[in-house]
Amino acid sequence: MIVILKKNPNPDQVQGLVSWLEGKGITIHRSVGANETVFGLVGDTSVLDIGLISALDIVEDVKRVAEPYKEANRKFHPEDTVIKVGNTQIGGGNLTVIAGPCSVESEEQIIGIAKAVKASGATMLRGGAFKPRTSPYSFQGLGKQALDYLSAAKRETGLPIVTELMDISQLELFDDVDVIQIGTRNMQNYDLLKAVGRQEKPVLLKRGMASTYEEWLMSAEYIMSEGNPNVILCERGIRTFEPSTRNTLDLTCIPLLRKQTHLPILIDPSHATGKYALVPAMSMAAVAAGCDGLLIEVHNDPQHAWSDGAQSLRPDKFDTLCRNLLSMHEYLGAMPRIDYE
Ligand code: PEP
Ligand code: MN
Repeated sequence: MIVILKKNPNPDQVQGLVSWLEGKGITIHRSVGANETVFGLVGDTSVLDIGLISALDIVEDVKRVAEPYKEANRKFHPEDTVIKVGNTQIGGGNLTVIAGPCSVESEEQIIGIAKAVKASGATMLRGGAFKPRTSPYSFQGLGKQALDYLSAAKRETGLPIVTELMDISQLELFDDVDVIQIGTRNMQNYDLLKAVGRQEKPVLLKRGMASTYEEWLMSAEYIMSEGNPNVILCERGIRTFEPSTRNTLDLTCIPLLRKQTHLPILIDPSHATGKYALVPAMSMAAVAAGCDGLLIEVHNDPQHAWSDGAQSLRPDKFDTLCRNLLSMHEYLGAMPRIDYE
């Protein structure tokens, strides 16, 4: 249930309502925006009389919320969530470009790529240290050594680091990491979600490869309900019957989830397509559809990459793409929006 308060409500009456609700075992999530204050009520709201609450002087409106996700729900938090990472902000009209190799291979490699992507306009560096691979015989990532190399690249360039956490035990190594990625295979690893919910770093939550929007938002809810509001959704393609691409990029999620949630939405065209040649077109399409940012794999020598070379862009191609993306984003920002209710 959500309770929308009138503008400038009497603080004593607000406190009275809060105490009364808490006395009934309800937890209240407050969202104080520029225009309105919204209380999200979580708990057994069936014990509450909607008519009684609506009749209060300070209450503008009361609505039951059918969706099982509360904290991630736009009804609970009407304004976009904007997440500050280093000097950049994710969400709220910004276009965040996160780039880097699938796997960190050496200090020289990651520093070289970090410098290149920064010069092109990327605002965050992504590199895999712990790799979730389909085969146990494939390269599994350099682990802690890769995290040290990422730290060196951060010191050199100032770019914040994004990297994947596969297991709770790795969290103690993540001090210098700015954004924790939860990969598609772990989207429903609930203990891992709860663990990242109990710490403060923002979490980039990839969509499970066969997950619905609601399942995805419920995974965000796992993180948020533990106390961490900084969740970034990332669509990376879903499993379909089409074999010519690695996955199928579902751009519908952008306008659709925009209505349902206030969380930023990023698109990963690299894992979605599995083919470097498809990455520019799908990145442009994602920006046109209104995403908050992109996560793009870039490698200095894709043919010899230790993982995902086939979908990685060379730095020179990424440079052109990144400039195009930023110009298009600026251009789109000046266009009138067509909004359907
Ligand atoms: C990755 O980002 O390198 C990765 C393994 O992604 P996903 O979890 O989307 O497969
Ligand atoms: Mn990859």
